[in-house]
Amino acid sequence: MSENIHDTVILGTGCAGLTAAIYSARANLKPLVLEGHEPGGQLSITTLVENFPGWPEGIQGPELIENMRKQASRFGAEFRMGHLATADLTKHPFALNLGHETVHARTLIIASGASARWLGLPSEQALIGHGVSSCATCDGFFFSGKEIAVIGGGDSAMEEALFLTRFATKVTLIHRREHFRASRIMLDRAIAHPKIEFLTNTVVEEVLGVESKEVRGLRLMDTKTGVESVLDVSGVFLGIGHIPNASMFAGQLDLDEDGYIKTHNYVFTRVPGVFACGDVQDRRYRQAVTAAGTGCMAALEVEKYLEEHGH
Ligand code: NAP
Repeated sequence: MSENIHDTVILGTGCAGLTAAIYSARANLKPLVLEGHEPGGQLSITTLVENFPGWPEGIQGPELIENMRKQASRFGAEFRMGHLATADLTKHPFALNLGHETVHARTLIIASGASARWLGLPSEQALIGHGVSSCATCDGFFFSGKEIAVIGGGDSAMEEALFLTRFATKVTLIHRREHFRASRIMLDRAIAHPKIEFLTNTVVEEVLGVESKEVRGLRLMDTKTGVESVLDVSGVFLGIGHIPNASMFAGQLDLDEDGYIKTHNYVFTRVPGVFACGDVQDRRYRQAVTAAGTGCMAALEVEKYLEEHGH
């Protein structure tokens, strides 16, 4: 069986996974990289990335991801479609069940990311990247001088709304309830901001503009009265939370109360040989460059681990 054991398997092809792939492939570890549900991760659904160092004019998210992928392939990373169904991390080598096959790995790098939570409306899904976004720091700039909406009632929504006031002429924060989950300080800041208006007890029924391929407004409903209305906006930002893709490790790794993998020394999990990097373990920074940074760390730790274990 030894020829079927991979030195390292990387879960995920976002910024963290691909950086781990570049480093481990260049170290001649021939990583097996599993694409997962959302190949390319969150960058693949953004447009212009202007804050990734080294691209003074910015670079399109999908192009940045494609470049990283080519870089990893050049050094011998093997990419495979598929995602992890279950994993047995109790024995070495680890057994990773992909549904149709089981692969064995001496080390595992989990870079499965976090997925933005969406409302789930067909019109919202159709307009992602055309005025619907879940990342204010990525896309806020494109709404300079425009009116936009932010959905959500937690800290993320407040943070996005406050950030977006730098660009937008007006930000309408839409929340489905009367009470907010956001911390008092964030909420107070948003309430005090002259550019932010609040609509509570309000849900989005439809994002308008599917035919024209750009957001033209929102059809809203007041949950108390049932009265519908239309809000004219050019953009809508979802701030309703992220879901880390780590539930398949529940019981085997330590997860925090929101399901993020708990790490120590940046990328170590509680199981020796299993490392986690990027948004699946980072609820704080969630940036492409920080994901790449921890991806690099995970790959370096894998090298060290294999060396220490005589491989
Ligand atoms: P969160 O606290 O879980 O809030 C999510 C919000 O989205 C809630 O108001 C929720 O409404 C709403 N929501 C969820 N699903 C919805 C749906 N389908 N339709 C409409 N609204 C929906 O998530 P978060 O704001 O991302 O924060 C996550 C954690 O990170 C929190 O612990 C937060 O404090 C922290 N964080 C901190 C900062 C900061 O301090 N700077 C910034 C960002 C995040 P309901 O209230 O009705 O459930």
